[in-house]
Amino acid sequence: AKQLGRDGVTAFVPAMREAAQDRFALEGDLRHAIARNELEVWLQPQVDHNGVRIGAELLLRWRHPERGLISPAAFIPVAEQSGLIIKIGDWVLGQAAQLSRTLTDHGQRLRLAVNISPRQFRQPELVSGIKHWLEASGADPELLVLEVTESLVIEDIVDTAAKMAELSTLGVRFSVDDFGTGYSSLAYLKRLPLHELKIDRTFVQDAPTDANDAALVEGILSVARHLGLQVVGEGVETPAHRDFLLERGCRYFQGYLYGMPKPLHEFLQDQLADQCS
Ligand code: C2E
Ligand code: CA
Ligand code: CA
Ligand code: CA
Repeated sequence: AKQLGRDGVTAFVPAMREAAQDRFALEGDLRHAIARNELEVWLQPQVDHNGVRIGAELLLRWRHPERGLISPAAFIPVAEQSGLIIKIGDWVLGQAAQLSRTLTDHGQRLRLAVNISPRQFRQPELVSGIKHWLEASGADPELLVLEVTESLVIEDIVDTAAKMAELSTLGVRFSVDDFGTGYSSLAYLKRLPLHELKIDRTFVQDAPTDANDAALVEGILSVARHLGLQVVGEGVETPAHRDFLLERGCRYFQGYLYGMPKPLHEFLQDQLADQCS
């Protein structure tokens, strides 16, 4: 075996191997997660400037039989690398379409935002898959918002633009998630049928107290104004976060101040109970 120094590198190697084994085990388990009903859709409300609920974002959770509830930050990268994200993402889209139909059947027109990973967006069946779920459920396409990443926008603008154009004609909307963390240029953004930008919560968090983050948030709002896009500020935890955004023209908010993510059935129960009260 290789000789390694006593500088911490030796300790690092078993840790790396463990991480790799862990990842491998996770991938194996994830393969069966859908069939075993272990994946759950949770929802977090989105509100307008009056605090009125206008929609919700779907956030995945994995209820692992031994490990308990696993955060998407831990398994989405595994799903993305292994390609499992295509099946998982399609399942989430089906859940969104069904939920949307249930809500409109109860007279509730909420927009539902679904995260689409780059690999999921790149697959050739993306558009036909979404059309299938919309038709099967009878959901209104105009209530579906697809959250895409900035990297997607730059990587293959021709493919991205073609898919977005086709879905846009149906009424489906596009939101650029975590805006400001990537490197998309105005020139690229202008070529796409976008509806919205989401300001990443890492910027929102410190904007009221940190001049750099404040400038970034202002820059994003200015870009949005130029392009005629609406903006959602995410990670709004305090009235100070909301006021900072509101004073600078942000009109939509998401964060713990307005509601934590909740399991789908709980969200639906609350939503339908509100209607009767
Ligand atoms: P994201 O799309 O940026 O989602 C927002 C994350 O911020 C969520 O974390 C949400 O729970 C969290 N959050 C919301 N409000 C607050 C707040 O006020 N304060 C703080 N500190 N956090 C807040 P979550 O649910 O752990 O999801 C993490 C990421 O996993 C998401 O980030 C998204 O990139 C990814 N993800 C979740 N569901 C899906 C999915 O169905 N498909 C794909 N491709 N990715 C998903
Ligand atoms: Ca998102
Ligand atoms: Ca994120
Ligand atoms: Ca984010």
